[in-house]
Amino acid sequence: MQPIANSIAAMRDELTAWRRDLHRHPELGYEEERTAGVVAEKLRAFGLDAVETGIGVTGVVGVLHGRGGARGEDRSILLRSDMDALAMTEETGAEHASRHPGAMHACGHDGHITMLLGAAKHLAETRNFDGTVYFCFQPAEERGAGAKAMLRDGLLERFPARAVYGMHNWPGLPVGEFAVEPGPVMAAADEFRVEIRGRGGHAAEPHMARDPVFAGAQFVSAVQGVVSRVRDPMTPAVISITTFNAGTASNVIPETASLSGTVRAFDMEVYRMIHEEMARIGAQLGAALGVDISVSIVGESYPPTVNDPEETAFADRVLSDLVGADRVRRSGGVTMGGEDFSFMAQERPGAFVFIGNGSSAPLHHPRYDFDDEAAPLGVAYWARLVEAALPVKGE
Ligand SMILES: [Zn+2]
Ligand SMILES: [Zn+2]
Repeated sequence: MQPIANSIAAMRDELTAWRRDLHRHPELGYEEERTAGVVAEKLRAFGLDAVETGIGVTGVVGVLHGRGGARGEDRSILLRSDMDALAMTEETGAEHASRHPGAMHACGHDGHITMLLGAAKHLAETRNFDGTVYFCFQPAEERGAGAKAMLRDGLLERFPARAVYGMHNWPGLPVGEFAVEPGPVMAAADEFRVEIRGRGGHAAEPHMARDPVFAGAQFVSAVQGVVSRVRDPMTPAVISITTFNAGTASNVIPETASLSGTVRAFDMEVYRMIHEEMARIGAQLGAALGVDISVSIVGESYPPTVNDPEETAFADRVLSDLVGADRVRRSGGVTMGGEDFSFMAQERPGAFVFIGNGSSAPLHHPRYDFDDEAAPLGVAYWARLVEAALPVKGE
């Protein structure tokens, strides 16, 4: 275990100021104009070798070469942060709370940006590595597949990296601890919608109608059987139906009902099976009840985030050296949450680690906040990872 460099520890107040400024000004996916502007401006001020903007709409990449100058793909790595906020209203009451009702950094992406900026600043000053680092700030992690948008925009052709690394804060894991493990660490995830079309009518004359509310209620019940009765119990999966909207008056049978929800699984076979089952249940239940039920996926579904065994072992060594092996958790860090870093990890070997965010409210909660005490540790992890992955010859 080696203590954090004094220069990084001394950045604490500066990191806090950056993070709180970003927190006050949250922006939703693909609308991160101010955020991307702040990121690009700081990267330029730090003296990076190149800063490119507008990748995948609002994405930013900073390029930094080490002591040996520009290097090829085998000596280049990509570090990734997300930038977007969530469409919800903050209830922390903090002085630095969101200035924008209906938008909030409730997933700590403000902290992720801050830690990666801190690493860029430190590494631009010290350049104690030999290779090229790409600092990647992506838009729209929350259901917008911003990582995929950047890849489509030629991310890895323009910034060829041998490996990709990501980090997410984790409430419930103490500040000062990390979690990392090989294999799938975050689930395949999507958002699906169910549209039910029946026939409306008078509530007193159900025999003249085909009630979509009745059909929707049965659909909700029937799909619970997919996870409990059809899925192999040794393979984790979740179906949650989270919205159910129909009707405007208590004496009217509505014409339609709309439901939405999400499917999560670690195994793509299981994930696909669940969708086939939901479509089948929709079609056949609809036929049985005389209504039309259609199930569709909204937007892009995220594949599972799968950590490469070698890169994970490497990240584990860097973390163990930073905080001590006993403060790196190697199991139980897995979650059914989705994460679009998965698209990058499909293209290059990668490691996605979790940094402790202590006793804050859970992610996506209106009283969640990133813990500023964690930021210097995150900066130190990124800096050490680069120095260890791209060592200067003779060191
Ligand atoms: Zn989130
Ligand atoms: Zn997040």
